[in-house]
Amino acid sequence: MIIAVDGPAGAGKGTISRALAQHFSLKYIDTGLMYRALAYKALAENVDLSHENSLVTLAKTLTTGDLQLPELRMEEVGNAASKIAVLPAVRAQITLHTRRFSQEITAPYKGVVLDGRDIGTVVCPDADIKIFVTAAPKVRAERRLAEMMQSGKQPQQNMLEQIIERDQRDQTRAASPLVPAIDATLLDTSELTIRDACQRAVAVVAAYQNENVQVLRSANGCR
Ligand code: C5P
Repeated sequence: MIIAVDGPAGAGKGTISRALAQHFSLKYIDTGLMYRALAYKALAENVDLSHENSLVTLAKTLTTGDLQLPELRMEEVGNAASKIAVLPAVRAQITLHTRRFSQEITAPYKGVVLDGRDIGTVVCPDADIKIFVTAAPKVRAERRLAEMMQSGKQPQQNMLEQIIERDQRDQTRAASPLVPAIDATLLDTSELTIRDACQRAVAVVAAYQNENVQVLRSANGCR
């Protein structure tokens, strides 16, 4: 089973994807982390964030070890990731990595859940289930600030502006913009607790599995 979870920053994709992975015994792949790891490496090595060829060369050197750094979670790294994510050749390279990781599924996993911006539209257009998670920008900014306070980080003043700017860049870029796949289920978490949001996502997947069981049963002549 392949589940694609897409949506803008701070909508709750990560938490929902992890909950799905745990509930249905799936491997979880956070594709934003790959863009973040590349951006972080580029910043550390003084590579120009608009220099496509150098970034592709750097992307080829990414290993799973590069995805473990806690610094990748910083807001600055997320913003830099969104800048390099507009470059088509960079996206192509990261999509290659993502597809390779998603094909390396072994027991006990029964499939994979990937979260990102273009999973349902570009990376896995044939995913079994696609969920597009969204929330109002103000709610997302408040969640990010609460997360920062909780982890003892200095809250940023202009979080809402940063969220709006990142949305704008992710939604309007020419290469794989952030849009819901035509066959995605929309999940607006603005007014939901994270627990309710996860339960709804679990219900979407459970409904898909039930439907499949019914189809199989009727194909086998069962009632
Ligand atoms: O999801 P996260 O905030 O970690 O992603 C960081 C940035 O990476 C996003 O703002 C987006 O520009 C880019 N990204 C992307 N496609 C993906 C995942 C992330 O363009 N599949």
